[in-house]
Amino acid sequence: MTDPIRPTPQPGILDIAPYLPGKSGAPGSKVVKLSANESPLGASSKAIAAFASAAEHLEIYPEGSSRILRDALGEVHGVDPVRIICGNGSDDLLHLLAQTYLGKGDEAVMNRFGFSVYPIITMATGAKIVMVDEDDYTADVDAILAAITERTKIIWLANPNNPTGTYLSDKDVRRLHAALRPDILLVIDSAYAEYVTAADYSVGLDLVGEAENVVMVRTFSKMGLAAARIGWMVGPEHIIDALNRIRGPFNVNLPAQLAGAAATRDVEFTDKLRAHNAKWRQWLTAELDGNAMRVLPSQANFILVLFPDAETAARAFGTLLAGGYVVREVGQSYDIHNGLRISIGSEEAMRGVARILKSMEAAQ
Ligand SMILES: *Cc1c(COP(=O)(O)O)cnc(C)c1O
Repeated sequence: MTDPIRPTPQPGILDIAPYLPGKSGAPGSKVVKLSANESPLGASSKAIAAFASAAEHLEIYPEGSSRILRDALGEVHGVDPVRIICGNGSDDLLHLLAQTYLGKGDEAVMNRFGFSVYPIITMATGAKIVMVDEDDYTADVDAILAAITERTKIIWLANPNNPTGTYLSDKDVRRLHAALRPDILLVIDSAYAEYVTAADYSVGLDLVGEAENVVMVRTFSKMGLAAARIGWMVGPEHIIDALNRIRGPFNVNLPAQLAGAAATRDVEFTDKLRAHNAKWRQWLTAELDGNAMRVLPSQANFILVLFPDAETAARAFGTLLAGGYVVREVGQSYDIHNGLRISIGSEEAMRGVARILKSMEAAQ
């Protein structure tokens, strides 16, 4: 039989494995979701009120450049709003970066256990994704540099990284940048910046301010506003200008702009989330690390637990699910078949997860 004649996707599109989101429990079930790094404390009450206030005027198009949100971000983070662009989630901005700077024949480099969206957006442009080995689940600057060819156009770097939770120090990021050709774009994806407590970390803003080939991408998704889909990026004006030419003209809806602006100014809520996360991240890590489980040191709002083998990880996933907790399998998406990623949740959830995993270990 011959294939019917029908519209055909561009070469490479059907080679892409679709993104696998973290699982939820069955509808109506009481399963606690620890699979998508969402906020266990909800959203800022000021952001919720701002979001709701937009309901009065849903017939009017939003201001297209997210001016309200850029002004708030500029004020709180000390950046000229001209150097900020907002997106429908940071995913929107990552796609725009790929579309703007990659094409057929180009290459983008990432570390092997880097964020699983990067291969998708790279291959969607016809470019090739080059994966480099890590140094014990941490991005390896020398390996990234060694993978660069004359075709390299972008380096994707999540810092801290998802799903490992590991990070590069400011010094290491600067060493990476200093060795790059000036035509290679360094994308620093600081999705978990709000949760970092390490003193030698930098969110990337300083470097963005100094260089013509660095951008910093951020999100509100891990801060209680995942459903609203709000991302933002700071970069040199020439890059902001290029992305503004191809973004959706109203890519951030009005409720999201208002909620994002209110959340940005609600520094107290952000501090509360950070403190809760730091406390329970440290507690869960200490509870689980050792014996048969290894917990990678995390600077994010999740931990990656490594089990002796894939079977044990699968059994742990099932036991946790039966106990009311759904966590993130990282075999298929990330090739870490012996790992489970667990979001930092409420105190009750953290104690529940620790109890289940430790009793499983004791029964070995
Ligand atoms: C969650 C996450 C994002 C954010 O995605 P949104 O589209 O803003 O929800 C970006 N990068 C990394 C590394 C992430 O883990």
